Amino acid sequence: MSLIGCHGSVWAGKFDDEGLRIAIEGTAKAGYDLIELPIFDPDNWNVELTKKLLVDNGLVATASLGLTDDLNISSEDPTVVARGEEHLRKVIDILGALNSTHLVGVIYSAMRKNFRAATELEVRHGQEALGRLSEHAATQGVTLGCEVVNRYETNIINTGRNALTYLSGIPGGRARLHLDTYHMNIEESDMWQPVVDGAEQLTYVHIGESHRGYLGTGSVDFDNFFRALARISYDGPIVFESFSSVIVDPGMTAALAIWRNLWDDGADLAAHANTFIRNKIRAVETIELH
Ligand code: MN
Repeated sequence: MSLIGCHGSVWAGKFDDEGLRIAIEGTAKAGYDLIELPIFDPDNWNVELTKKLLVDNGLVATASLGLTDDLNISSEDPTVVARGEEHLRKVIDILGALNSTHLVGVIYSAMRKNFRAATELEVRHGQEALGRLSEHAATQGVTLGCEVVNRYETNIINTGRNALTYLSGIPGGRARLHLDTYHMNIEESDMWQPVVDGAEQLTYVHIGESHRGYLGTGSVDFDNFFRALARISYDGPIVFESFSSVIVDPGMTAALAIWRNLWDDGADLAAHANTFIRNKIRAVETIELH
């Protein structure tokens, strides 16, 4: 059974003690099993408080992030790669302490628009770093998921097929696939085939609408996506992701290009998404079982 989760940025823009409390309590109250924490700043993360809030609210946590240029493990500059690797290692160790299962997102690349294709050296540096990191993560019980994102956010992996080739080049073969419906809706030809093709590698799923607002009000073909998940008996986390500049900080607003807001009530949005996702899963489960 998949755990159904909500991204912390639906609730808070800053993950200080107050932000953690609001995000974790809100996620539990909206009916979720899991919260995805954007651990961008592992040096200042309150691990003990996170642990306590998770237990008190009956949630488990995963983490995601996108790399900045100065932490880009796909850089051609080995000192930048080393810095990024050290940063991700710290996040992995926090996740180990939280008994978390996943570190996902754009952990293989700077998350920004590029004006040229990635070089072979950049791809190789990222793959080598991910090989070392995924080996370390395994000692902490953590799986790394490389999130396939659209062409405006990375030049490394933009489609599921592209990602499978990329993953096959990572030493150790431990890093896995993370698909996001928002990005798939931009880059893939349909919502079924990438899931079926990635069945062996798929470890994490983001659910986002075409405009990143209320589920069911955009153009994402969720019916075929959830049918495909059922077909491959996917049982990893399924996490709702949505962003509003009402909540997220100016840095993230810029990184994600949130120039318009589709919601201002995170609690209402999250409760709606939880019901939407569980209803889709129920519908396909009953197709598969009868
Ligand atoms: Mn995502």
